[in-house]
Order: sequence, then structure tokens, then C-alpha cells
Amino acid sequence: QLAARPPLAASPGLTPATLRPAEARPALSVVVPAYNEQEVLPAFHARLTPVMEAIGLPWEVVYVNDGSRDRTLPIMEGLRAADPRVALVNLSRNFGKEIALTAGLDHATATEAVIVIDADLQDPPEVIPDLVAAWRGQGVDIAYAQRRVREGETWVKKATASAFYRVMQRIGGKVKLPPNTGDFRLMSRRALDALLSLREQHRFMKGLFAWVGFPSVAVLYDRAPRAAGETKWNYWKLWNLSLEGITSFTVAPLKVATYLGLATAVFASGYGLLIILRTMIWGNPVAGYPSLMAVVLFLGGVQLMTLGIIGEYLGRIFNETKGRPLYLVERHLPSEAPLQRHTT
Ligand code: UDP
Ligand code: MG
Repeated sequence: QLAARPPLAASPGLTPATLRPAEARPALSVVVPAYNEQEVLPAFHARLTPVMEAIGLPWEVVYVNDGSRDRTLPIMEGLRAADPRVALVNLSRNFGKEIALTAGLDHATATEAVIVIDADLQDPPEVIPDLVAAWRGQGVDIAYAQRRVREGETWVKKATASAFYRVMQRIGGKVKLPPNTGDFRLMSRRALDALLSLREQHRFMKGLFAWVGFPSVAVLYDRAPRAAGETKWNYWKLWNLSLEGITSFTVAPLKVATYLGLATAVFASGYGLLIILRTMIWGNPVAGYPSLMAVVLFLGGVQLMTLGIIGEYLGRIFNETKGRPLYLVERHLPSEAPLQRHTT
């Protein structure tokens, strides 16, 4: 079994979830992507287990090893050996968080709902019962955890994050991203199935969650600083993620070219008129080298920028048309035990 799902699957493919009879599936799946998380993973599992047990529904946790270079995989194997509610998906290499998360969601067998959470304990597992309560109590499909404060983050990160959300709100059109919300959330099975039907290569998960829609509710919580290990994000990666977010959700930047061109043309014709009048009245004693240079450079800049924007979209179209699977699974060990309620 290589690709877990066909790319751009419109068909209800043989996913791990559909392969198993409903009685053998847990009600809740917790999906945890992890890349180089050897320091926190045992602590994470130790904190998750009592929280999930207290909810009182059959559950599993799907750990996705996203090509870690440290001991994350053996740790996961150890967790699975000790606890049959653990499922393990080992990807063939590092695919990035968004795709690792998708792989986990593909392999979640829950009948009722899935919970998406980071391995680094920044999303406290103790919030999960609140998510479950909001989902069951208010009959919504999605309960997303919204940060009250961003502890342990520099003001630069907070400022850039808030600027990004503002830009996205403006240009996102009908798809609205809730601010201060990460991937930490609970999704009903039908919302998950809807999400999994979106098989695009460029996966900006926050945007995909928002695109799917369905009734949702925010659950406020305090985001903790990373428990251990290091963040996998730097500003360059965050910048790329923002580009991903913008280009996969709106074609508005393509219009920039149109309007910049229009504005320049209007400005240029006004300026041209001015020069003609000036020459007619006072003559033209010195050739206009500075103005020429200014105009050439400005237009060159605008052209390059708009070409770049078009290139961003073109590159994404190129990647989609290749129709590759989103990820490759090296090994999948499903969860077991308390689920096997044999009827014979
Ligand atoms: N992660 C992943 N693949 C990657 C990078 C990150 O699966 O290539 C996981 C990581 O192990 C963690 C989650 O995604 O569980 C969030 O990553 P991180 O904490 O580095 O991001 P931040 O919390 O700083 O946004
Ligand atoms: Mg983190």
C-alpha cells in the first residue's frame, strides 16, 4: 500500500476509515503530526491519555511521523506497543505539517469526530473535553480552539500574524479565517469527509477548514509556549505559508497587475501631456534623462512584480496538473484492541 488515497480523489477511495466495519471503529480519533518531536512525544501521550479516557468514548490516537530525523519513530512504535489505541502512520520522508496532517486525517477511523492537535503541547490536550462538549452540546460540526493570548512568542511574530489575518480577511472573499486559530480543533465525521475531498497539493489547512464551512463554534484557551524541542517555523517558512494562504484562496493579486498597469498608464499620459505643454511653451533645453530613467525603472519594477505574481500561480497550476499523490506512506499500523468487539 503506497498512496493512501488516489490524488484528487473524487471517488470514495478505500481509505482506512471505510475499510473497517463501523463497530470496529472508535468514536473519536486524535490526529497528531510530528516532526522531530522526541523530547515531547512521551510527555504528550502521557497527558493525552487521561484526558481522552475521561471523555468516556472509544478513541484512538493517530501519530504521523513526518520523516523525523531523530528518535520520533521508535518512540511512536514504543507507544503503540504499549497502547493498542495508538495508530502509527510513517511517511516516506518529510512532507511538511499540512500534508502530514492530511495523512493523519486520511487514516483516522473515527465514526463521530476527529481532533487535530500539535505534538509539542502548545495545544493543551486538556482543552479537548471542552471541544467535545461544545461539539456535542451545541450540535455544531466544528469546534475550533481560539487562542486567548500568545505566550512565549515575540511581538514581531504576533504583529506579523495579526497583519496576515487582516490581509486574509480583506481579500479572502466569502471564505473567512477566524483569527488566532490554528489547526487545533474538533471536526465531525461529515466535516472531515468534506475536508478530505479537497485533494489539492498546495494545502493551506486553515483555509481549507474555512472553505469547508459547516456550523462551527470557537472555544477559547490559552496557548502555552512549546514544552520542549524547537519550532519548525522560521520567518521565511511563515512568509511562504502566507503566500500559500493567499494564492490558494484568492486570485486577487492577479488583479494587481491590471490596476497597477491602469494607474501607471493614467499617470504616464498625464505626465506626457505635461511634457508636451512644457516643450511647447518653454522649449526643451535639456533632454529629460532623469524622468526617462525614473519611468523606465518604475515600469520595469511593476512588470517584474506582476510577472512574479503570475509565476506564483503558474507554479501552483503546474504542481496540481502533475496529479501526484499528496504523500507516500512507508508504514501504517492501525490502532487495535478495545475496538475489536467481535459479534460472533
Ligand atoms: N510538524 C510536522 N512536519 C513538519 C513541521 C512540523 O509534522 O515539517 C508538526 C510538529 O511536529 C508539530 C506541529 O507540526 O506537532 C506544529 O509544528 P511547530 O510546533 O513547529 O509549529 P508552531 O507551533 O511553531 O506553529
Ligand atoms: Mg508549536
